[in-house]
Amino acid sequence: MRQPLVAGNWKMNGSLASVRELLAGLKAGIAEVKVAEVAVCPPAVFIPEVQGQLSGTPISWGGQDLSVHESGAYTGEIAGSMLTDFGCKYVIIGHSERRTYHGETDQLVAEKFTAARKAGLVPLFCIGETQEEREGGITEEVVARQIDAVIEHCGVDMLGEGVIAYEPVWAIGTGLTASPEQAQDIHAFIRGRVAQNSAAVAEGLRILYGGSMKPDNAAELLAKADIDGGLIGGASLKAEDFLGICTAANE
Ligand code: PEP
Repeated sequence: MRQPLVAGNWKMNGSLASVRELLAGLKAGIAEVKVAEVAVCPPAVFIPEVQGQLSGTPISWGGQDLSVHESGAYTGEIAGSMLTDFGCKYVIIGHSERRTYHGETDQLVAEKFTAARKAGLVPLFCIGETQEEREGGITEEVVARQIDAVIEHCGVDMLGEGVIAYEPVWAIGTGLTASPEQAQDIHAFIRGRVAQNSAAVAEGLRILYGGSMKPDNAAELLAKADIDGGLIGGASLKAEDFLGICTAANE
């Protein structure tokens, strides 16, 4: 049985005051979450605050990115070991915003996957097609290429130590959501692609859906056989909304 995971990607949002308020709300409501594992990925500067507030609670936390390097003259970068120093369990890699705005390639993302594992972090590995790619009928080709890059670089067993987040780029922050059937189809395809390399890894691998997931559409998405949780952007910034998605997995 794969335990669902609901992870919040706060992106570049918040202030110390709003982070404190959000964490207080999460702590107050987390007891209602019976089934899902819950995690939050704040901007790096807030990680010490998150660690201070969430240590001893069932909520884990992670980074939004990491360097492929272990240390040295890489101004502005954050090493995986620095994230683990502050109690991070997860790190998001390959988010479409980093692929688009920071030119991250499949190869770099695969290197980040390895760097995360070397540091003992669980990668939340994001994949997904753009609107143009979907309209061009190449969704499966795109996600297969993104997955294969990690398998070729890291091996399928290492892929299995992470979590995949399928996030159609056209659904991120747009209010458009893949229908539960559309999402299930691609999730099944992703699991099948991994199964070509290892049936056991594919069976145990958690595949999250991301893209305008909200309390009112979460239950239907999470009910699908191959959807093992969610990566949540906008709705993770309000405790009530985020917890509403987490509790949808109770059903
Ligand atoms: C994301 O950026 O990972 C995401 C899923 O965003 P949103 O929920 O806002 O679409």
